[in-house]
Amino acid sequence: MTNKKTLHLPRRSRNVPMSEWRTYERPIPAAWHAMAKRKGFRVDRRVRDRYHVALECKRCGAHTAHKVYTLRSAQPICGGCRASRQHRNATKAGLVFHDRDEAHRHYATYTLPCGHKTRLQRGRVALLAKDGPPPGHSGYHCSICHAEKLQEMAANNGWSLVGADPEGDANYRLLTHDVCGHRQRVATANLETGRFGCGGCGESWVSAPSALYMLRFNVPGFGPCVKLGYSRNPMSRLRYQLGLRDDVEAELIDEVSMPTGQSALQVEKGLHRHLQTYHSDKVIPTIDLIDWINVTSEIYTAHAEPIIRRMLDDVETSHGSRPDQ
Ligand SMILES: [Zn+2]
Ligand SMILES: [Zn+2]
Ligand SMILES: [Zn+2]
Repeated sequence: MTNKKTLHLPRRSRNVPMSEWRTYERPIPAAWHAMAKRKGFRVDRRVRDRYHVALECKRCGAHTAHKVYTLRSAQPICGGCRASRQHRNATKAGLVFHDRDEAHRHYATYTLPCGHKTRLQRGRVALLAKDGPPPGHSGYHCSICHAEKLQEMAANNGWSLVGADPEGDANYRLLTHDVCGHRQRVATANLETGRFGCGGCGESWVSAPSALYMLRFNVPGFGPCVKLGYSRNPMSRLRYQLGLRDDVEAELIDEVSMPTGQSALQVEKGLHRHLQTYHSDKVIPTIDLIDWINVTSEIYTAHAEPIIRRMLDDVETSHGSRPDQ
């Protein structure tokens, strides 16, 4: 008497190999049938040893192994119903349920909208599913995206992220200055605005020159795309900075010098805003390219290339007309 249905196992029994859960060929006492019926199940068969039964859920039909003791003394939980509840909660919270955490029953792994996987408390996901995320918040935080974002912001200004703050402050990171090798702590808020100087060589954020650039790259199976960004040193660092895979062809096709990283950042933001507003059909969501390139700002289709080129021309003209700082 074999059964084709998946047998769900209670958490505490998951270390018992599946082969142990074979049918235990003994009659099923009538009292067990009556108890199961009252609790929304049907005793399908006895399994493993004289203490266990396979219960069929009246609602979803899934089979779950339980101790006879549990059937007698408590409300057995249907593994099928629980799994579909978890998937439903995840979907409502904007996530994809990936895998439960066998070691910590309150946790499971989920795929975030950005495509990265994360471990979350199931109760938190259930709450998100019920109430939805608070307005203006996505309700989850992707630490991978956050780390990549910080790395990109540091690199734009000619710095590299070394790691967490040695003094343990969550709002700081340890960075190294590419040109002089000096290491220092920088507040993440300053990392975002580029407002920090180097304690080693004395280069200040006000004076450090920068450049706006346009990069054309070709993702296999995706076609040509362009990236607009700013960087302290687009020529030498771009590939590394963007985490481009080796099989992605990339070419720097335009570059405009800017007096400071600060002005480069401001102008770059304005250009992205303009493109999103007036050329939204040419915007490629970064998530589509997540496996190929680490970026936080938009990527555009090749059709945006002449538009961006004109915008960079305008930037150059307006900056050329300004007095030197
Ligand atoms: Zn069920
Ligand atoms: Zn992410
Ligand atoms: Zn320095």
